[in-house]
Amino acid sequence: MGEEKKEKYLAEERYYGPKVMAPQNPFGLPRKEIKWFPTINHELCTGCGICVEFCPEHVYEKQGDKAVVVRPYDCLVGCESCRPRCPVGAISFPSRQELKQMLRELREKYGYR
Ligand code: SF4
Ligand code: SF4
Repeated sequence: MGEEKKEKYLAEERYYGPKVMAPQNPFGLPRKEIKWFPTINHELCTGCGICVEFCPEHVYEKQGDKAVVVRPYDCLVGCESCRPRCPVGAISFPSRQELKQMLRELREKYGYR
């Protein structure tokens, strides 16, 4: 990476937080601009704690008798593996189509074609 490009990369990282390199995000876009993380329907959540125990990125924490998404941007872009483990179907994610669209818009914003 050239010096100028490297400085731009580091400046963006300072501003937006760590970037993520994943098959779905090969350009290393700023993680905080990728709205990919779980949402919990607290009407359904029974607080069983399966998602809290399961997620290797510690995205969830138990607060009172519910699970809460405390570190949304630590969720791996494109991962949904906790969703089917919730026994009551309380966890949801954006659709794959929405993810694709988000990444497409960010690539355009940052000048990647
Ligand atoms: S697995 Fe589902 S029901 Fe259990 S704590 Fe997580 S969101 Fe709530
Ligand atoms: S999708 Fe993967 S990384 Fe994201 S919260 Fe669920 S298990 Fe954790």
